Amino acid sequence: MGETAAGIGANTFAFFTRNPRGRGFKKPDAADLKTLRDFLERNQFAPIVAHAPYTLNLCSDRPEIRAYAERTMEEDLKLLDTIPGNYYNIHPGCHMRKGIEVGIRDITESLNRIMSGTSGTILLLETMAGKGSEIGARFEELRQVLDGVERPEFFGVCLDTCHVFDAGYDIVNHLEEVLDEFDRQIGFERLRAIHLNDSKNICGSHKDRHEKIGEGKIGLKTLTALFTHPRLQGLPFILETPNELSGYEQEIHILNEAANRLARRKNNEINWD
Ligand code: FE
Ligand code: FE
Ligand code: ZN
Repeated sequence: MGETAAGIGANTFAFFTRNPRGRGFKKPDAADLKTLRDFLERNQFAPIVAHAPYTLNLCSDRPEIRAYAERTMEEDLKLLDTIPGNYYNIHPGCHMRKGIEVGIRDITESLNRIMSGTSGTILLLETMAGKGSEIGARFEELRQVLDGVERPEFFGVCLDTCHVFDAGYDIVNHLEEVLDEFDRQIGFERLRAIHLNDSKNICGSHKDRHEKIGEGKIGLKTLTALFTHPRLQGLPFILETPNELSGYEQEIHILNEAANRLARRKNNEINWD
């Protein structure tokens, strides 16, 4: 995984701890992770972000589904604790017909159970698009979950640009206001990773269909502004765009070029003073 990422000019990457849509996937074992840990150290990679399967639901109305989600996450975290200092990204859950409040309570309870024995991994709650009964489309929902966890130092947030846009945060016309709102509701110190995706749909659509960088309704200008934003520097940026490897390589190139252009322009401004 690491070699592939380095080969296309990346210095971080994400991976699924198992098949994102179901079973039947060779999950990484301790030996794989040891190799990975050595690689990350040698190449000075930024923290990597493991993604839990989409199908897990910590606030399902069926207890066996909740229990399965908790068990799976516990297993994943135990594995990740062998490469400490990285992130485990989860979708908070779908409340089905229970309502947001009950859903948030259930998620918080589950997280407290799951995280009681972990040591070196930060769990990230992802901002969601609000498709169906997804929890986490509003920043205040994530804050409520974070307010209820017993070991807050082991929690953070991953901001997905497609999701926040689809959820109704207009990052195209009001980027600074949206970031301020994030800071007010959640706090920038909690922001640990960015999923940088364009969106096939308009702001507020609640659809969650990712698009290639610059080919969707968010557009290259806003995505570049995010990529180069002073408040977001140092965070791992993960692409979840519909691409093959060469497409990712190209997107990394496009974003780095845009960042370089911006840096050159800033340098020139300073020289003229
Ligand atoms: Fe996700
Ligand atoms: Fe995402
Ligand atoms: Zn998505």
